[in-house]
Amino acid sequence: MKSMAEYLATPEQAAAMALSLLQEQGGVRVAAVWRQLGAAWQLLAALGAADALPSAETLEGGGRLDAGCEAMPLRAGEQVLGWLVWRGDAGPALNPSAALLCAHLLCARLGAEQVAAREANEALFDISQLAEECGTIDQVLPGLHRQMMRLMDASNFYIALYDDEAQVIHFPFYIDQRDPAPPASDAIFPLAGHAQSLTAWLIRGGKPVVLSRERLLEVCQQEGLSRQGLLPASWMGAPLANAGGHVIGAVVLQLYEDQTPLTSAEQQLFLFAARHVGFVLERVLHRSQLERQVWLRTSELEGANARLRAEVAERKRAERFQGALFRIAELSNTSLSLEAFLGGLHRLLAEMVPARNCLVALYDQAEDCISFPYCADEYAPPLKPHRPGKGFVEQVLHSGRPLLIDPYSQQNRQPEADEELPRPKSWLGVPLYCGTDLLGVLAVQSYEEDVVYNFRDQEVLEFVANHIGAALTRVKALESLQTAYVELEQRVRERTSELDAVNAQLEFDSLHDPLTKLPNRSYFSKALRRAWETYSHGGGERFAVLFIDLDRFKLVNDTLGHLAGDHLLFEAGARIRSCLRHYDFLARLGGDEFAVLMFGMDGGGDCERIAQRIVSEFERPVILAGREVFSTASVGVVLADHEHYHKADDLLRDADHAMYCTKQQGRQGYTLFNHELRINQADQLALESELRRALEEEGQLLPYFQPFIEGDSGELVGFEALARWQHPQRGLISPGLFLPIAEESGLITRLDRYMLNAACAQLSAWRAQGRVGPEVALHINLSSAHFHDPELAAWIGERIRHYRLPPATLHLEITESALIDQPEIAATVMHALHELGVRLALDDFGTGYSALSYLHRYRFDVLKIDQSFVFDLDRTQESAAIVRAILALAKALDLEVVAEGVETAAQLAMLKKMGCGKLQGFYFAAPAPAQGVDWERLARFRKEFQGER
Ligand code: C2E
Ligand code: CA
Ligand code: CA
Repeated sequence: MKSMAEYLATPEQAAAMALSLLQEQGGVRVAAVWRQLGAAWQLLAALGAADALPSAETLEGGGRLDAGCEAMPLRAGEQVLGWLVWRGDAGPALNPSAALLCAHLLCARLGAEQVAAREANEALFDISQLAEECGTIDQVLPGLHRQMMRLMDASNFYIALYDDEAQVIHFPFYIDQRDPAPPASDAIFPLAGHAQSLTAWLIRGGKPVVLSRERLLEVCQQEGLSRQGLLPASWMGAPLANAGGHVIGAVVLQLYEDQTPLTSAEQQLFLFAARHVGFVLERVLHRSQLERQVWLRTSELEGANARLRAEVAERKRAERFQGALFRIAELSNTSLSLEAFLGGLHRLLAEMVPARNCLVALYDQAEDCISFPYCADEYAPPLKPHRPGKGFVEQVLHSGRPLLIDPYSQQNRQPEADEELPRPKSWLGVPLYCGTDLLGVLAVQSYEEDVVYNFRDQEVLEFVANHIGAALTRVKALESLQTAYVELEQRVRERTSELDAVNAQLEFDSLHDPLTKLPNRSYFSKALRRAWETYSHGGGERFAVLFIDLDRFKLVNDTLGHLAGDHLLFEAGARIRSCLRHYDFLARLGGDEFAVLMFGMDGGGDCERIAQRIVSEFERPVILAGREVFSTASVGVVLADHEHYHKADDLLRDADHAMYCTKQQGRQGYTLFNHELRINQADQLALESELRRALEEEGQLLPYFQPFIEGDSGELVGFEALARWQHPQRGLISPGLFLPIAEESGLITRLDRYMLNAACAQLSAWRAQGRVGPEVALHINLSSAHFHDPELAAWIGERIRHYRLPPATLHLEITESALIDQPEIAATVMHALHELGVRLALDDFGTGYSALSYLHRYRFDVLKIDQSFVFDLDRTQESAAIVRAILALAKALDLEVVAEGVETAAQLAMLKKMGCGKLQGFYFAAPAPAQGVDWERLARFRKEFQGER
């Protein structure tokens, strides 16, 4: 069976059919069928002039029917689905049609409702699906709107989302046909003085709201809400809640007058759909929040990971640096040269920084010069030292700070005229410091495009530079130490060779006389010993020793000066040499003494010939300081023999003795040491020991006294004490014999003291006996040996006090030779004697060359004219002139004068005539022992002299 719907496709067809039935059955001519569609009524079909009938609204509102009009509600249960209205009296005949219509309307309605429900279902399903399909909220929102449009007229629609943390409402989706500008955001709790918005109120309320315009205005007023823009005809809002029931936002639908108002079903559907929208948004939001969290977590992890990687890299870098540092330190300690150190350093640096090209520049401030102890470059040739210019290195030196030149800053650089080499793309230089001293620059450069130095590289370079500075100083110190060693070695070598030369010179000097360059005494002794040994062992030839002494050399030396003396010695050496054969050995023993070793001597004849030649050689004068000077030589010769000699030194001693004999025999000549001399010598040795004994005993050594007479009055004015030796066996010995022995043996000082003591004792005794008056002086001879005795003055002082003699009574006679030897010491001793009050006499005046100068240099009281002048006085004019001159000089210097050796009356007469103060000599009295003094004879002279006057 077919359903109604199948017969009557639409309610309009069903209504038309029912009306046609009415017309057939009841004769109704005017009728209409109404159907309710929501709030509105729809005229389904009409018969005749249906507009004469009342409308459905009128009927529903209880409007009265015109006469002749009837209306029947079409009901489904309580609900009125429509109306059938007609004019006429169809009566009950209409019921079946009404029922049919009713069923039809119900059917249509149910069908429509089913369609709408399906539609709604689908839309809601699609809404739910949106959460799955769309990733982000921005993609979801337009979809949501599209689905809402399927459900109702949502052309003015917005979605608000509430940010719980910020307590702010956003409007991610907003469509308003009349008022298209969406609010930016909205505060859920507005500040004081600001009104809450309707949306905020809705969200806070948490309940759906449907408001007509009137109601909207009422609510706004009641709640104190702000309402902007145009007022809609109806306003419908539903809060959006998440699964937990928390409000996350709201969805709002507005309808203006021109829009069809929503049916209650649509309103219901809106609220229902809003819940779905809430779920979808919540899911999307949750998901995006999750994604955000995941993203955040991931970023956090990535951050942590990056940090970790950086830390690991940093640690590795630090380790690498540390390693490099150690190796640098090691390098600086092990490198033997600066070059090796810097080469090693470059290798280490290249491990940390791109450093194919590296240079180390050092600045020398003193020289104002930059040098390059290290320079490794792929293209550029090694740099030469130069004065600072305008380069990068100079910039670093000038600023004392690192300099980084990258390709960018390079672009502005003017290309140089001679630029043929590739230009570095990047340059990095740092200063090298040691402490605060700027030593130089460490620089790297790169020609590659992709190597651009950065701050990191600068750090590395500075780090390395820090350690180079100190290491550099160390290596440099090491290097300079090495050069110092080399220099030192060189110096040592030089010094050694210098020392060798000096040693050789010293050895030469130690064996030679610096003046004549002849071998000296010690060399001679060695040569003599060697010759003696060879000879005494029977292997060598017989040899002779010559001892040569220059006569009166001291006088020359003193008169003409040391230079002249030296010249004389030099000349003497040459003269002696000229008399010898080349193999003879000549030496200067010291002073004016020379010695010669002559080999191949068979007998005395050979020696004597050579000795004579030497003596003759000295007969020619020597020209000294423009003067002719005669300096003769005294020679002693001895021949070696096995019989008399046992050691070499004895040969020299005997040669010396032979020379001495020559001197004694009047100088200028030679003496061959022979048997006679040997006995003589033995005799002298015996005498020496006997003299020693004599000095210890009383009575062997005696003072003989020789008086002085005053030239004017003939009065006795003094005595000179002269030594005599009363030898128990040999009888009386004169000083000429024993004084040389005393001088040589050093006994002379003891002898002089002995004499002084004995003479003073005698004078003291004579004075006590009244033999002599206080005016009588005592003259004592004093040897030059005393000038070495600092105690002398004190001793003499003690002695004269002992014998109660006035100091001025004592006259000390000194010969020139004493003064020649040690002029300085002589002055000191003489000064001490003067202080004592004793008087000094210059003995044998006129025999030397320099007596005059002594008179000026030392203070003498008395001058004794040598007997040689007195002896010739009455024979030669010359002597008289000299004596006269001496007397004049003495007068001028206020000196007393004693003339020695007066033997004849003629001499006496002349001296008296010349006005000589005092006189001494055999004419008056020979020296005599104290008891032998002829006092009467002395008294006679007084009378004689006075008688003459
Ligand atoms: P002298 O000091 O020049 O003494 C004078 C010497 O001339 C003495 O010789 C004396 O006897 C001698 N004589 C005196 N009158 C004449 C004269 O008219 N004609 C000649 N031809 N000779 C005369 P003597 O006593 O042999 O003394 C020689 C030298 O020995 C002294 O020379 C003196 O230098 C030294 N002498 C003597 N006794 C001592 C002494 O006790 N100590 C020191 N150191 N030397 C003394
Ligand atoms: Ca004398
Ligand atoms: Ca004398």
